[in-house]
Parts: sequence; structure tokens; C-alpha cells
Amino acid sequence: MSTAVVVGGGPNGLAAAISLAAEGVQVTVLEAAQEVGGGARSSEAIIPGLLHDHCSAIHPMAVGSEFLGRFGLERYGLRWRWPEIDCVHPLDDGSAGVLYRSVEQTAAGLGPDGSRWRRAFGYPAARFDALSQDIMRPLLRFPHHPLMLARFGAPTVLPGSAFARLFRTKQGRALFGGVAAHAFRPLHYPMTSAIGMGIIAAGHRHGWAVAEGGSQSITNAMVALLSDLGGKIETGVRVDTASQLPAADITMFDLAPSAVAGILGDRLPRRVSRAFNKFRRGPGAFKVDFAVEGGVPWTNPDAHRAGTVHLAGTYAELAATEREIHAGLMPERPFVLVGQQYLADPQRSVGNIHPVWSYAHVPNGYTGDATEAIIAQIERFAPGFRERIIGHSVRSTTQMAAYNANYVGGDIMTGAKDIRQLTFGPRITLSPYTIGVPGRYICSAATPPGPGAHGMCGANAAQLALAHLARRA
Ligand SMILES: Cc1cc2nc3c(=O)[nH]c(=O)nc-3n(C[C@H](O)[C@H](O)[C@H](O)COP(=O)(O)OP(=O)(O)OC[C@H]3O[C@@H](n4cnc5c(N)ncnc54)[C@H](O)[C@@H]3O)c2cc1C
Repeated sequence: MSTAVVVGGGPNGLAAAISLAAEGVQVTVLEAAQEVGGGARSSEAIIPGLLHDHCSAIHPMAVGSEFLGRFGLERYGLRWRWPEIDCVHPLDDGSAGVLYRSVEQTAAGLGPDGSRWRRAFGYPAARFDALSQDIMRPLLRFPHHPLMLARFGAPTVLPGSAFARLFRTKQGRALFGGVAAHAFRPLHYPMTSAIGMGIIAAGHRHGWAVAEGGSQSITNAMVALLSDLGGKIETGVRVDTASQLPAADITMFDLAPSAVAGILGDRLPRRVSRAFNKFRRGPGAFKVDFAVEGGVPWTNPDAHRAGTVHLAGTYAELAATEREIHAGLMPERPFVLVGQQYLADPQRSVGNIHPVWSYAHVPNGYTGDATEAIIAQIERFAPGFRERIIGHSVRSTTQMAAYNANYVGGDIMTGAKDIRQLTFGPRITLSPYTIGVPGRYICSAATPPGPGAHGMCGANAAQLALAHLARRA
């Protein structure tokens, strides 16, 4: 029987482990933390019973994930829940850009920008399932649907700023900009519309869903499936050197490229090691969870029904804050993402006290305390919020990296999503999961298709590993 070791038990490590175990490989996952799950974990905090997602919260890219679908994780308790409204981007005058799962409903709310929204997103949303066969894999390969991919792909090379100019209303521009800013890149850089377009198209097809019982349920379902397939998990095992790696036919690294280079040292070809050590990090996230009595008192009525609220003000303000964090400067009013998962999954609340998830975009390695800036930004669009806070808990950029070594300096994307790294992954190659050592692969969110709790980096890398085993047999 072939054997495999997976280092790191985040969604991608678990997806790789499951994909291998399902083909009869004997798999062991080695995880540094006391429990697996990486960025897909949740727990009670602040007050007993109040359930907070530690990282990943909203899952437009996961619901339709080929990996999650293939293994039928609902059999292991994974259930998606949807808020009434996917995302709201409020402005100071009380108005907002409002994103619904339906393209038509979104367009109807955007007034003069409605037809532009429909033209931009109607086509990729209607064909998202077919498109995802190409965009959820390394991009530089012969596509399953070349014409469809070309039509979707052409505008993704645009800077977010150019794409945003398609929209004439401040609500339409801000709504698109807030989603594009998930790329953690200055929006005037080329290809910064790509991540936003992917998330919006996925959301119009599958909705911005949350996992019932917290994102931990994604991990729990994967762990139960892996166990059924005979896989083993060892927690509290941090791998720092190659000598700690058990002998195995396959080794998968659900790690940042620099960590793989550190572990394998001169066992890696020099060109790979150089590329992995030069891999660029993205800006950081500073996270604050709140316990809020009666929920957030938003001025905009739609924000009361939205799973996600993007706080930055106008598109111009948002673009300025993203430029600043990229330059290593902490903006006075950072881009803040607020999650109200409890609206779709009420069991996360305790009576009238609700868990509110938030993080701000900050410079990589930011050492200050962004809590007050986050509260002020929420207060700006929800006067009276401060008085409703019963308690809060903070995860700074430093704590983020201590919590999960992949998030160096608070970089929750596992690497800057610049053109090169977004297109190729950790190094310029057509095979982004290979590391130049037969039977060893990198499968973290540093590889295509990138961040998210969809498991596709791990599943794609596992296909290469299985092909390697088949060639040896
Ligand atoms: C604050 C925040 C908000 C987010 N929001 C969303 C969201 O709403 N939707 C979404 O889809 N995604 C979101 N993400 C991103 C998502 O969580 C990640 O992209 C995803 O978890 C990446 O999965 P992974 O398996 O590649 O790596 P990770 O989840 O980072 O897991 C890596 C695992 O490897 C372990 N590890 C690291 N080093 C070692 C070592 N040396 N030895 C052994 N084990 C090691 C870590 O402990 C960890 O368990 C968010 C992330 C954060 C932090």
C-alpha cells in the first residue's frame, strides 16, 4: 500500500489527504496546532455559547467546490446557510451598494448601473459551474471551455480601478471595489479585478453562504470523512526539519513556500528554494470579534439583513486605504470587513447577544492596535455600536502568525496575489504544486486557485501525486 504524509491540516491539507485516502493511499496528517482546520475553525469566545469563526467565515467559492461536492460532505454534517442579502457596502449618506445572490435583484437596486452590472456579471454567473472547471485549477493549461474562459478572462486583466469606472453610481463603484479589495492589492494594479470578478460570479451562482454551526463544520466534516477512509491525524506536531518527516511515498506540504524551503533546505533544487524564499507576502489582517447586544445598529436598513458588510466609504477612499497598507502605512480609516453569520445561522447567538466578526486590512506585520480604528469605522456607519459591545477579542497580525504559521505578518492570503503569484503560484512553472523533488508537493493557498476554504489547491495537488504513484506502479 502506498503511503503519504501531509504536513499541515488546513482545508487544503485535509482535501489532499482525503483525495489520496479515497484512492487507497495510507495517509497521516501532521498538524502543528492542537487541532486541525487551519483557517476553518470556530469556537465559543467572549461569553459561553457565543460562536465565532476564527478565520474563514463566508464561502461563495466553497459551496460549488468540485472537491467538496465530489465527496458529499453533507453526509458528514456540512450544511450551508444563506443570509437574505450577501453583502452591503454602505456610504456616509445612508445609501449602499447591495449585493444579492440574484444578478437581477442586484441590478434592480443599482438604478442606472443595473444594466452594467447585469452585462458584467450575468454571463459568468450563469456559467460559473463550467467556468470553475478552469478557474479553480492552474490557469496556464489547456482550458475545458476556452471561449467561455476567454470571455470571462478578458476583463480580469484590468486593474480594479478601470473595472470600477464601468459603474457610474457611487454605490455601484463602491460595491464592486469592496469585493475587488479582497485581493489585498492596490486597485490600480493590473489584474486586481480578477479576484473580485471571481467572487462576485461565484456568489451570484452559489450565494455568500456560511456553514451551519460555524466554519469548524467544514473541518469536522472533512475529518470525519478522512477517518472513514482510514486516514490518521496527529496534532501538536510542528514540522521544522526534514528529519521529522516520516518515510512515505508522497509528502504534501499545506504550508507557505518559505516554510517548505526551511524544512527541506538543500534537498530542494536551488531554483525552487530561491523562488520559495523570494515569495512575496501580502498585507496583514487585524481581527476583532465582538459580542454585541441587539446586533449592529446600522444606519442603512439593508445592512441589518446582510451576511457581510464592507466598510470603507466611497471607492476613492477604499482605493486610497489599499494603496496605503501596501506601502506599509496604517490608514486612519482602514477597510473593515464585518461578518454577521448569525443572521443565516442563529444558533451562533446567545439570546439577544450576537457574534460579530470583523477584520481590517493593515500593513504586513503591523504592530499597533487597530481595535479602535475598527470600532470607529463601524460606528461611522452604525452610530451607537460602541454602547452595544458586551466584550471583544483581538487577533493582531503577530497573534495571527502565532495561531497559524502560514499567515506570516498577518497575511491571511498565504502570499501576495500579484500577477505572477496569482497566475503561477509560488514559482514560474506550469506545474505549481511540484517542488522539484519527486513525490513531494506544495498544496497550500499559495498555489492555484488560491485562498478560501474550498480545498481545491489540495485536491489539485493530490491528482499529481496520484499520477506519480500510478507511474511508479
Ligand atoms: C481572518 C481570516 C478571514 C478569512 N475569511 C475567509 C472567508 O470568509 N472565506 C474564505 O473562503 N476564506 C477566508 N479566509 C482564508 C482561508 O481561511 C484560507 O485561505 C484557508 O484556510 C487556506 O487553507 P490552507 O489549507 O491552504 O491553509 P491553512 O488554513 O492556513 O492551514 C495550514 C495548516 O498548517 C498548519 N501548519 C503550519 N505550519 C506547520 C508546520 N510547520 N508543521 C505542521 N503544521 C503546520 C497550520 O497550523 C494550519 O493548521 C480567511 C482567513 C483569515 C485568517
